[in-house]
Amino acid sequence: MSNKFCPQCASALVECVINSEIRKACPLAECGFVQWNNPTPVVAIIVELPEGVVMAHNVSWPQEFFSIITGFLEAGEDPAECAVRETKEELNLGCSSCSLVGVYPFEQQNQVIIAYHVAAFGEIKLNQELDAFRVVPVDRLKPWNMGTGLAVAEWLAQQR
Ligand SMILES: [Zn+2]
Repeated sequence: MSNKFCPQCASALVECVINSEIRKACPLAECGFVQWNNPTPVVAIIVELPEGVVMAHNVSWPQEFFSIITGFLEAGEDPAECAVRETKEELNLGCSSCSLVGVYPFEQQNQVIIAYHVAAFGEIKLNQELDAFRVVPVDRLKPWNMGTGLAVAEWLAQQR
């Protein structure tokens, strides 16, 4: 997210070219703050049950929009452990295996997606972030062309 003021000295930030990109920076040389705006890593999880892949609806999303599970890393957390933890927290499912699918840019959200496939077991119980889910048979899964959809497309290609 973009700040207007320097978090170190409260000066108004100015735009300047640093390392060949336009960035917001503090005009005070003795402060030297630069807003690098680095992407945030997000862990995305293709949660597969015997019946298919779990697509869930977040309470804040448009009604028709469903996606695979996502979550943010805790400080120091292994992304694979995050995938297992989020599967438990968001869906109340256990994991019998967890493997890396790939890493994908998501420029629109300034994120980098680290995608895992989890073979899951148990009965789905949604946490408070989610209010609906569908279990989509693998042969009916249709990937979307950005963000987590890139991970789903690659995973589907690996299945064939
Ligand atoms: Zn400053």
